[in-house]
Amino acid sequence: MAGRIKDEDIALVRERTPIADVVGEYLQLRSAGGGSLKGLCPFHDEKSPSFNVTPAKNLWYCFGCNEGGDVISFVQRIDSLSFTEAVESLARQSGVTLRYEEGGRSTRRDEGKRQRLLDAHRAAAEFYAEHLLSPEAATARRFLTERGFNRTHAERFGLGFAPAGWENLTAHLRRRGFTDQELISGGLASQGRRGAYDRFRNRLLWPVREVTGEVVGFAPASSTPRRTGPSTSTRPRAPSSTRGGCSTDSTWPSGTSPTRARRSSSRATPT
Ligand SMILES: [Zn+2]
Repeated sequence: MAGRIKDEDIALVRERTPIADVVGEYLQLRSAGGGSLKGLCPFHDEKSPSFNVTPAKNLWYCFGCNEGGDVISFVQRIDSLSFTEAVESLARQSGVTLRYEEGGRSTRRDEGKRQRLLDAHRAAAEFYAEHLLSPEAATARRFLTERGFNRTHAERFGLGFAPAGWENLTAHLRRRGFTDQELISGGLASQGRRGAYDRFRNRLLWPVREVTGEVVGFAPASSTPRRTGPSTSTRPRAPSSTRGGCSTDSTWPSGTSPTRARRSSSRATPT
């Protein structure tokens, strides 16, 4: 593909694609009053609908996942597509002919953009790893301990903990010079009504790595099947050393009971 899709064409795709029609192909939408529609969220398990679509604003939002976005982000997520692929797919459906920025310059720009995203993910991984040692992460550490993981394993696999709250990582990365747009397009933050907010909150996280070892995403442990995660087909060996300058000792401090069980039995927020 030649390069980046022109911004005005992306805007046109958004404008010409009725979000309710697109979402409606994947789930049944009913009126929720006030011009909104609702249905069962395709991204999490639920019995009562907390997935909302506002056609007038061309936005979706799930009160269960606390995630939302526009029609492009919906297609990205539901079909596991990149941003460009999602725009191309919607453009085909809505008859918009896409124009691309010229090759050379935009390719360099794409590479620069990709490097920025990798930098943001590296900073996020450090931030999450640091928080796994915080008092707030006691439950997460307990969860790991019960599965044979100690601090050395956590460091080796790059496990982390996203603290509760809406802007911990977002504020941290903003201070490091990343823009909200970069955090949102990188999947580290979600678009809220008042700007970007942390995508992961109060969660134990596995890093998702490319073959190069670079972190390109995070997967919450609570929605990860029990035996997955990096190289857990065999139980990790005992630690050979304890390293790192943080104050927590080499074994995890004990915490309260894990949150896993709660999730499977929790109901979605009624709307
Ligand atoms: Zn949801």
